[in-house]
Amino acid sequence: MNTTTKKPAVKLTDVEVLTNNEIAPSVFLLSFRRNFDFVAGQVLGITLDPEEDARLYSIASGTAEPAIKILYNIKPDGKLTPPLSSLVPGSKIWVTVPFGNFKADNEPAYWISAGTGIAPFFSMYRSGYGQQNILIHGGRTPQSFFFSDELSQAFGNRYVRCCSGSKSEGLYHGRVTTYLQSLDNLPTDHKYYLCGSAEMVVECREILLSKGIPYNNIVAEIYF
Ligand SMILES: Cc1cc2nc3c(=O)[nH]c(=O)nc-3n(C[C@H](O)[C@H](O)[C@H](O)COP(=O)(O)OP(=O)(O)OC[C@H]3O[C@@H](n4cnc5c(N)ncnc54)[C@H](O)[C@@H]3O)c2cc1C
Repeated sequence: MNTTTKKPAVKLTDVEVLTNNEIAPSVFLLSFRRNFDFVAGQVLGITLDPEEDARLYSIASGTAEPAIKILYNIKPDGKLTPPLSSLVPGSKIWVTVPFGNFKADNEPAYWISAGTGIAPFFSMYRSGYGQQNILIHGGRTPQSFFFSDELSQAFGNRYVRCCSGSKSEGLYHGRVTTYLQSLDNLPTDHKYYLCGSAEMVVECREILLSKGIPYNNIVAEIYF
């Protein structure tokens, strides 16, 4: 009997890049035409070479928009993101179908993110969710608050930007974790969505648990 260690094949489709713009230092918003349905909050895989493993990215656009948008930052020593950032309109990339269980519903929730972890929440908002929700976003500099013009307009004082690297008017000075730590009487019947690095998600979850939020009300998406 033959055994194989080969991975099951992942179905990839090639698509053409529509736009790939640097919207903040080393942070890009890439788009391509949408030819599938997805649920707000889901991810898809992207690769430049169908023989290589795809990297995962949250979809940052709404479910009814004609283009899929992906918000990514360059990892200087990364395999995909440096060449991805040099693509121009018309370049070809390979994508998987969308998948994942990080999905919005209409229950009241806190949406808590750091860095490019804002992407799934922007998709949820653009898909009609979150009209009562609190949106908390952490970033190092005032330029790190991607989509903030639109989010400020939509969320008003339910949108909190935590800027760890500098003091700036209208921004909370400190990390998301410090901000969360400062909140009293968080509602225990709300859901708490977390999206960002493993470190950020783990720290935020610890804080929420210590404030009496039931474990099952915390939903996490980790960008590893
Ligand atoms: C569910 C999910 C959703 C995600 N969504 C997004 C998103 O919306 N936006 C976004 O920007 N990112 C997202 N990510 C992260 C993304 O998938 C990539 O990991 C990221 O873009 C880096 O890809 P890369 O190929 O450029 O870097 P990689 O080649 O994967 O390297 C990443 C880092 O790891 C280091 N590294 C690589 N291999 C090793 C090794 N063997 N040992 C030690 N260190 C190593 C590299 O030096 C580099 O610093 C998501 C991840 C997950 C899991």
